[in-house]
Amino acid sequence: MTATDAKPQVSAEQARAILESARDVEWRKPSFGKQLFLGRFRLDLISPWPQPDPEKAARAEAFLPKLAEYLAAHVDGAQIEREAFIPDAVFAGLAELGCFGMKIDTEYGGLGLSNLHYCKALMLAGSANPSLGALLSAHQSIGVPQPLKMYATAEQKKKFLPRIAAGEVSAFLLTESDVGSDPARLSTTATPVEGGYKLNGVKLWGTNGTVATLLVVLARVPKSEGRQGGITAFVVESESPGITVERRNAFMGLRGLENSVTRFHDVFVPEANRIGEEGRGMRVALGTLNTGRLSLPASCVGALKWCAGVARGWAAERVQMGTPIARHEAIAAKLAFIAATTYGVESMLDLCCMLADDDRNDIRIEAALIKLYSSELAWQAADELVQVRGGRGFETAASQEARGERGIAAEQILRDLRINRIFEGSTEIMHLLIAREAVDQHLSVAGDIIDPKAPLGRKARAGLRAGWFYARWLPTLIVGPGSFGGYAKYGALAKHLRYAERSSRKLARQTFRGMAQWQGKMEFKQSYLGRIVDIGAELFAIAATCVRAQASGRAEELELADLFCSQARDRAERLFRALHHNTDARDVSGSKAVVAGSYAFVEEGILPPPDSGEWVATWEPGPSTQADVRRRLPHITPTPPR
Ligand SMILES: Cc1cc2nc3c(=O)[nH]c(=O)nc-3n(C[C@H](O)[C@H](O)[C@H](O)COP(=O)(O)OP(=O)(O)OC[C@H]3O[C@@H](n4cnc5c(N)ncnc54)[C@H](O)[C@@H]3O)c2cc1C
Repeated sequence: MTATDAKPQVSAEQARAILESARDVEWRKPSFGKQLFLGRFRLDLISPWPQPDPEKAARAEAFLPKLAEYLAAHVDGAQIEREAFIPDAVFAGLAELGCFGMKIDTEYGGLGLSNLHYCKALMLAGSANPSLGALLSAHQSIGVPQPLKMYATAEQKKKFLPRIAAGEVSAFLLTESDVGSDPARLSTTATPVEGGYKLNGVKLWGTNGTVATLLVVLARVPKSEGRQGGITAFVVESESPGITVERRNAFMGLRGLENSVTRFHDVFVPEANRIGEEGRGMRVALGTLNTGRLSLPASCVGALKWCAGVARGWAAERVQMGTPIARHEAIAAKLAFIAATTYGVESMLDLCCMLADDDRNDIRIEAALIKLYSSELAWQAADELVQVRGGRGFETAASQEARGERGIAAEQILRDLRINRIFEGSTEIMHLLIAREAVDQHLSVAGDIIDPKAPLGRKARAGLRAGWFYARWLPTLIVGPGSFGGYAKYGALAKHLRYAERSSRKLARQTFRGMAQWQGKMEFKQSYLGRIVDIGAELFAIAATCVRAQASGRAEELELADLFCSQARDRAERLFRALHHNTDARDVSGSKAVVAGSYAFVEEGILPPPDSGEWVATWEPGPSTQADVRRRLPHITPTPPR
């Protein structure tokens, strides 16, 4: 039997059902994001600007300068890029500083940093080399610490967290060759046996997978008598017999990444290592990401800061056609975009972190919005930086240095940033995930009306419920503080908050309009939904930026916030227009012709792309036939599996 034979046959409905069952359906705390999409601009949920916990802030203030000092003195980012390798000494040095336990509570030997300061540390590490940021973030935000913090038993925490805090590395293994965005296709199995489970399967692209000693593995427990089964999460000792690290993968960027193909062949995992209940693995994975998603934006903010610094220094210095290029309007626009975006995205990140830290709000929508927004805008900013740098933007830092110039790795930052739009939920998937939350209220009152499978009785009850809800809700979308002179205390920024409040109501009207027009088919209107979500992101960004700048009171911050908000409004207006002026329908029919091969003539005239080999590799179950390429870090004493 091949894994292809074993592949679950998954319909679109089943795939949706898996994601739906992993959603946290309850909203126990207030959510700015949820209200925003309903046309209720609850600025009171994010204003006044939150303040970090003083005790945690003091701990971080002692730690961050030490980290900065270590990185500056002992890490050669260019060497990591050149050799595609993070030296053992750097792993050991980071471990010594406590970097692998930044988010672990002090009672388990961790540093117990807040989300805010953890993200600042990631930014710092990423500025030495982005692979370091990715190492620490994958280890902490999706690797063992975060899911254990949220879902583990006291015994599991006691057993694993001190090891991690002391410097062991962890990885998160969900993806398989046939599973990327769609976990329903997961084929790694966890078969119940005496005292635990046997794991079989091959996991692809596990960041840190070649060096990790502890793995979070998602595997499917087969359904059997008295057992519901389903996707389940486990902590697995990577030294367990039957695990082979078959490959270290290489990418266009993040060259230092220790990313694996990992095979499991009859790997015994004790029952005590299961995280949460059987069948709740996707809940663990998605729940982990609710705050875990903040670390990726931290890398993006770090990259934006770097781009802002380079763009400023270079554009002021470089003279062409008699004037510094910063004074040519085309370049000036790019400088303004990079600087303002840095301020705006950092405002969103700091706000999300502090909201997560004081635990008063549900931030799942905001964290998803900033993941989406920061990865898209940081990429655009890095692309603009390459343009501002001209030919030097395309040249490697090493080549510039060899010619006797300052080595500025603009092309590297572009390559390193690109993956952020793909992993931890691609942009397309984030659009769908956020859109699902944005229409949640509508589905809960009127879902049965548009569900073709709902019986008449349920439809009738839903009709009554919807009538009652919409009769009260729709009038609230007509006027609000943004229609009059609201938000006066925000001075020059009040106009942007008024815009955001008005636009939030408009956004809710447009969402309702889409639902009324397409009903159950709305979920297929991905371009429309994507724009709704992107507008929501702009409005959240405007709100976060204004609240932060006003709290600072600094003239320069108020000015930069004003600039950012003007740019964000411009983007939002274009998105509003595109909701109803677009080529969506034409694109969909055009793409059908593309797939049918009707336009294949456009591909003629070149040597064709490779046409041998599988698009997606299949894997054979059984023991590995490959050499184990795992890298054992000298500072870690391997713990024999028990
Ligand atoms: C460098 C790197 C590090 C990684 N680290 C990890 C890790 O540590 N652990 C781990 O488990 N995984 C990891 N991954 C995997 C990563 O999370 C996946 O690549 C990502 O989830 C996308 O899956 P995929 O590549 O299979 O793309 P696919 O799911 O095949 O998607 C291909 C394209 O189709 C789009 N698409 C898919 N479904 C839909 C839909 N329903 N509607 C609209 N568009 C859709 C996607 O957005 C994408 O643009 C890593 C990948 C890389 C490259």
